[in-house]
Amino acid sequence: MSPAEVNGRGYRRPERKAAVVCLDGVDPRYLEDAFGRDLVPRLRELAEQGVHATGRSQLPSFTNPNNLSIVTGAPPAVHGLPGNHYLAPDGREVQLTDPSALRAPSIHAVLAREGVRVLTVTTKDKLRGLLAAGGVPCVSAERAAELELDGAGPVAGLVDRPVPGIYDWDCSHYALELALALAARLGTELLYVSLTDFVQHAAAPGEELSDRYLAELDRLVGRALDDGWRLGLVADHGMNAKPRVRFLGDVLREAGVGGARVVLPITDPYVVHHAALGSCCWIHVTEDELERARDAVAAVDGVEEVLTREQAAAGLQLPADRIGDLVVLADAETALGKTEAEHDLSALRGPLRSHGGRHEQAVPILLSERPRGAGADLLERGATNADVHWLLLGEGA
Ligand SMILES: [Zn+2]
Repeated sequence: MSPAEVNGRGYRRPERKAAVVCLDGVDPRYLEDAFGRDLVPRLRELAEQGVHATGRSQLPSFTNPNNLSIVTGAPPAVHGLPGNHYLAPDGREVQLTDPSALRAPSIHAVLAREGVRVLTVTTKDKLRGLLAAGGVPCVSAERAAELELDGAGPVAGLVDRPVPGIYDWDCSHYALELALALAARLGTELLYVSLTDFVQHAAAPGEELSDRYLAELDRLVGRALDDGWRLGLVADHGMNAKPRVRFLGDVLREAGVGGARVVLPITDPYVVHHAALGSCCWIHVTEDELERARDAVAAVDGVEEVLTREQAAAGLQLPADRIGDLVVLADAETALGKTEAEHDLSALRGPLRSHGGRHEQAVPILLSERPRGAGADLLERGATNADVHWLLLGEGA
C-alpha cells in the first residue's frame, strides 16, 4: 500500500507488527533512575539497540490531549482536545471524552480503512470513546469484565488473573497483558496501548512502588520483544511533586473579579490521582475584567505565565474555542485550583504529585529500531510525542 495521509503526514502499513505504548506519566527521570540501577534490563536492551531520546509533550501536559496527539500525530489545535475537561458553549463544564469532540482522524482509523488490522487498548475507560473514533476496535482494562470485541465473551477471559481495580498498582500491566493477548487473537498489525499514571502520581523515581511498576513493565516489554513486536514507547507527560497549591478562584474573588470562572482542564473521574490539581488552568472572564484578572493571577507566587486566549492558541497550538480567556501556567512545584473549598485533598493518598505545565513536558521516547533519514533528523532536532507513529511507520521510519 502507498503511504496513507493522516493529518498532513504519510504512514505505511507496518512491515512487521508494531505497537506504540503510552507510558502514562512516566517522566524521563523514572527510566534514567531505573537504567542507573539495572532495574529494567529489557528496556535497556531496547534502548541500546534502538533509540532512547527525550522528547516533548504537547501543552498543557495532560492525559487526553497528549494521547490524542500520539494517535493523530497532530497538536491539540488540529485534533481539538486541549484538556480532559472544558467549559462548553452552554456554560456547563464537561469531560472531553465523546468522540464527537474530535476534529481529526487517528492514524489507526485511517489505516484501518486501508485494510490494516488495528487495535487500541486503554487502561482508563475515559479514553475508550476517543480512541475508538472512526471505527477503531478499543477496549479498556477498567471495564474488561464487561466489554466484548468479537462476540467471544468479555475480553477479561483472555488474561489469566482477576481484573485489577483502576487504583491498583498493576492495572497498567493488566492492560498490556490484555492488549498482547487480544492482538495475538485478532492478528493485529498496529497496536496502541495507553497505561495509567496512578503509580507515578503516588511515587517518585526510586520508591518501592515505582520500582515494582517498572520491573513488571520491563518483563512485559521483554515479552513483546520476544514475540516479535516492533515497539515505540512514549509518555503523555512527565510528573513533579507539587507541594504548593494556589487557589486562583480565591485570588480572583479577593481581587474583586466577581465574574471570573476557573476551569481545570486536568479534571477527570480519577480524583485519587490528583484531586483535579495540575499546573495549568483556564480562566473565563468578561472583557472588562480581563486586565484585572490577569494582573491578580500574574502576581501569585508560583504562577509563571498568563497568556491570553489568542497568545495560547498560537503559541501552544491549542483550539481557541475550547480554552479560557486566560491560560495560566505554574512552576514545577505549584498546582492550581479553583477555591480551596472546592477541592477535596483528603482523596489524595500522600503528597500531591501532578503535571500540566511546561515542567512536565519532557517525555521519554524509546524505539526498538533506529529510524533512518528524516526520522533520524527529527530526533536530532527534538521530537514530540505526536511524532512517535511517524518515527515507527511513517516516512520518518
Ligand atoms: Zn497522563
